[in-house]
Amino acid sequence: MLSYLHSYHAGNFADVLKHTTLVHALDYLTQKPNPTFYLDTHSGPGIYTLADDEAQKNCEYKNGIEKLWNEADLPDAVARYKEVIEECNALEGSKTDLQLYPGSPWIAAHLLREYDRLSLCELHPREQQTLSQNFKSDRRIKIFPKDGFQTAIGTLPPKERRGLILIDPPYEIKQDYERVVEVLIASHKRFATGSYAIWYPVVKRDQIDRMLRAIKNSGIRNIQVFELGLQADTIERGMTSSGMIWINPPWTLWKEMQQTLPYLAQKLGGKQGVYKIQQLVAE
Ligand code: SAM
Repeated sequence: MLSYLHSYHAGNFADVLKHTTLVHALDYLTQKPNPTFYLDTHSGPGIYTLADDEAQKNCEYKNGIEKLWNEADLPDAVARYKEVIEECNALEGSKTDLQLYPGSPWIAAHLLREYDRLSLCELHPREQQTLSQNFKSDRRIKIFPKDGFQTAIGTLPPKERRGLILIDPPYEIKQDYERVVEVLIASHKRFATGSYAIWYPVVKRDQIDRMLRAIKNSGIRNIQVFELGLQADTIERGMTSSGMIWINPPWTLWKEMQQTLPYLAQKLGGKQGVYKIQQLVAE
């Protein structure tokens, strides 16, 4: 039973971290003319209208993208991310009015070239329908209305031999924490040179520590972890931080995050904001 809908969370502080790193990596991958493959194991619908009831329920974007919207002093990676969000809003007529928030499929489709390929997996019937509608005329895109974990393994390695895999489950079910590790290991066996980006929420810190330990002990190398929180871990408050695990990241990402994360922690979390930059396994 799937109940998670990302529209309640679109543009929040977790999306800011996830999509800032995603934009940076896609820009990096597209510097070379060689064709690139992109796989989104958990796509969501692809684009969100912030005025819709679901986004308005908790207005999470107000602690995320909205706090950056009128800032001029952004670090490079955040400025570039904001530029992409503006380009999405230009679809509504004005790039300066924050009305839409793009999901990872829209960001990837926007930044990749006409000869690149995208595979998007989505299991929720409503989200599948919106996703298909949003990208119906884009011939680069194949939508899999299936389990993203299984599809990842079947799709790899891509014929391009270059690519980025985003693994972004909702962690609605506890098993997702283990499946992420299993699927990463199986996918990496098939496509060791690919870049992998895994998002995680910090709800229970020991669960994340277990997941990171399993990834660290898997034998996979070149792993970096970036975390951003609105406040330090608490038992009572649910998700106060979230993180991104990057395997084979662009070599430029580490340096960008040194500028980006202190800025975002302060801008989005104020005095309570926290961040972490960690090399989990060296190259
Ligand atoms: N990647 C999106 C982005 O950054 O804009 C957000 C994705 S959201 C966190 C997770 C999505 O995964 C939801 O739309 C949910 O319906 C979908 N989902 C849940 N379990 C899935 C599964 N096993 N396979 C594919 N999609 C799944």
